[in-house]
Amino acid sequence: MTTLQLDLFTTEPETADQAGPVPGEIDVYMLNLSGGKDGLRAAAMAMEAARSAGVEDRVYTVHASLGPMEWPAVTVDGVRYPGSSELAAIHSQALGVPPERHIEVRRSRELEGERVPYDLLTFIAERGDWPWLGKARWCTGDWKTSLIYGAFTPIVRARKKALRRPVVCANVLGIRADESPDRKNRPAFRTTTDNTARIVHEWSPAHQISTQDVKDWTDQQGLPHHWCYDSHPGAGDWAGSSRCSCSLCVLANTRDLLLGVKRRPRLAELYALVERVRGVSFNPKTSMAALIEQAGHPGAPDPGVVIDDDGPEFDALETAVRTALTKPPKRDRYVRPGAPADALLGGCDGCGLEGDQ
Ligand code: SF4
Repeated sequence: MTTLQLDLFTTEPETADQAGPVPGEIDVYMLNLSGGKDGLRAAAMAMEAARSAGVEDRVYTVHASLGPMEWPAVTVDGVRYPGSSELAAIHSQALGVPPERHIEVRRSRELEGERVPYDLLTFIAERGDWPWLGKARWCTGDWKTSLIYGAFTPIVRARKKALRRPVVCANVLGIRADESPDRKNRPAFRTTTDNTARIVHEWSPAHQISTQDVKDWTDQQGLPHHWCYDSHPGAGDWAGSSRCSCSLCVLANTRDLLLGVKRRPRLAELYALVERVRGVSFNPKTSMAALIEQAGHPGAPDPGVVIDDDGPEFDALETAVRTALTKPPKRDRYVRPGAPADALLGGCDGCGLEGDQ
C-alpha cells in the first residue's frame, strides 16, 4: 500500500471561485468519506481550509457503512486491497485526522434481544420494493444521512454546552457538477439545518472539479484509490467501475452494473431472488435477472476479479434476506418514473447525502 505520509495540500486552490463557509466560524467539520474518490477530494479541500484557519482539531471524518453491500476487501496474488470502510479509515488517516475523530456508522436493529446489523437489501426484501430517484431514494437517508446526524449528536451537545449557542457544522460532501444535471444544479454551499442546537451548512468544495482532475489529483498525491475503480485490483488504471458505493446500486449505469454482477455473482443472485419473490424489478429500466443474463454474453466487461462472498457477514445478509422473503411485503409498490438515459442520475459515490443534516 502506498505510504500515507503525503503532501496533500500543495495543489492550487480550486475553491477560489466558489461559495463556502468561513473556516474559523465552523465549530465541527464533518467530512463524509465513502472510500470513493470524490469524498476524498472534497475532504482534502475542507481539511486545507480548516488547517489554514488553525482549526483542524475541529475536523471529523465519517463513513456510513453499507456492510456487505459495499465493495469488500479482496486479496489477489497475496496482496490485500481494502474494502470501502477500511479505505475510508485509511483516507482519514492520510488527511491527518486522528483515529478517535474517524467515525464509522452502520444501521443496526434489535433482534431476539441482540443488536445486529440491518442491511439495506434486507429492508428492500421486507418492504417489497427498491429505492429509486427523488422521494423514493430512501436508501440514502435511512442508511446514511440519519445515522451520521445521530452520530454527531453527542459531539454537538458537548460543544453547545461549552459554547452556549447553536453549534455551526460543515457537512462536507463529494458532490460534483459533472456527475449529473441534478448535481450540477445543486448549490455547492447551502444551509440545511438551523435550530437551537445546530446550524448545518452543506458544503461540496469539489463541485466544480472534473472527474479526470479528481483522478489525476488522487494519483499525483499518491493516495490509494479503491480497487473497484480499476480493471482489476492493483491495475491503477481507473478502467473499472465509475462509482464506489453499493456494488449494485439501483442508480448505476449498465456497465457498472454488469461489472458488479460479474464481480459479485452471489450478491447479484440474491438481488435476483428478491426481484423474483417480490415481483418487482431492480429498477424501471432493467432487472437483475436480465443483467445476470447479459453479463454472460460475449462483450460484457471483464470483471478483473470475482469475489466469493463466502464470509459470515454475507451469510448473515443472505439469511436475513431469505427470512424476510418468507413474509408478506410491508409496502405497496411505488410506481417509479422511467429513467431517461443510461446514466447514473443521482450519483452514488457516497450517494450525495440528502436531507437535513
Ligand atoms: S449506492 Fe445507490 S443503492 Fe446504495 S445507498 Fe447509495 S443510492 Fe442507494
